[in-house]
Amino acid sequence: MTCIRTPITDPVTSSSVYAEIDLAALRHNLGVVRKHAPAAGVMAVVKSMAYGHGAVPVARALADSADALGVARFEEGVALREAGLATPIVVLEGPTRAEQLEAAFKLDLQLTIHHESQLPLLQDYADEPLDCWLKVDTGMHRLGFPVDRMRTLFERLRQLPAVASLRVMTHLACADDLTNPATANQLQRLVEATGGLQTEKSIANSAGILAWPDSHADWVRPGLMLYGASPVMGKAADDYDLQAVMTLKAPLIAINDLEAGEAVGYGGTWLAPEAMPLGVVGIGYGDGYPRHIGAGAQVLLNGQRVPVVGRVSMDMITLDLRGVRAQVGDIVTLWGKGLPADEVATWANTIPYTLFCGVTARVERRYLD
Ligand SMILES: *Cc1c(COP(=O)(O)O)cnc(C)c1O
Repeated sequence: MTCIRTPITDPVTSSSVYAEIDLAALRHNLGVVRKHAPAAGVMAVVKSMAYGHGAVPVARALADSADALGVARFEEGVALREAGLATPIVVLEGPTRAEQLEAAFKLDLQLTIHHESQLPLLQDYADEPLDCWLKVDTGMHRLGFPVDRMRTLFERLRQLPAVASLRVMTHLACADDLTNPATANQLQRLVEATGGLQTEKSIANSAGILAWPDSHADWVRPGLMLYGASPVMGKAADDYDLQAVMTLKAPLIAINDLEAGEAVGYGGTWLAPEAMPLGVVGIGYGDGYPRHIGAGAQVLLNGQRVPVVGRVSMDMITLDLRGVRAQVGDIVTLWGKGLPADEVATWANTIPYTLFCGVTARVERRYLD
């Protein structure tokens, strides 16, 4: 009797455009966090689909090695609990509705209290007490209470029956810039806000972890560095021994012979300087490849860097194949192992965060371990 089994990679239906997600590299990068901040708890930030890598698989891969997971939104925390994750989860944007407090208790989600409008929710909540973080604004002016209100607020919240435990958090605005005095100022303001309070504190994002040891405090909150890109201006992932987790790949689907002067793509913005082969890769902005990538952009093909020419379309990009041995079906790397996302981001005048988060749903994630 024959048994029909679905192959792991179905030759008919599996996506030709895929992001390989190397979970061993992810755990290696968590090890880099531990090396830099050995005394701190690690809250691995997995918001926005774990920066496009897939929230549940990434959270599962880190569940045994991280001390907590950080998400931006309440529903992101709920989704992780529904997937069976048991690691402590912190919701960084905090609650906006009363029903979320009950759900937070049931699902064991820790809440961030960062604004006046959330105080009545806590006052009116009479169920089992919650683990909370009080956020202080030390200079970013996005979320958090002013420094001079912190002591009073901290004592007041700690008295509330709704609050089981209370920790303090702030966020750094300029830690990616080693020369910016704003970080030292923020650290100083946190001392003003919380000096003498008996509580655990959290300050550092990835850049803080790597570049500002004074910001490590009791809990660090790495995001980008876990995914293997550099969070610090002027530094490469390699400089910190970070390994790329996502490698974005797509196939070469056509090779065309151009005559000198023939125009390529929408708007005909690029002209062949001589008779030459042009490669067409089946990936475009509909997959998250940045449409505004500029001159100088490259991909990796058969171990060689190859220039991207002409405009990025929704489903395709075009390559200058002069001096490259290539055939239809070859797999092209857009970023990841062998071609750092940091570098690709500079060609697109953006940051690696947006490249990762921008990878769309039609790109298959293939998990390697
Ligand atoms: C996103 C986020 C982080 C992680 O930042 P990275 O720069 O990716 O390390 C940490 N803390 C808060 C509050 C965040 O919103």
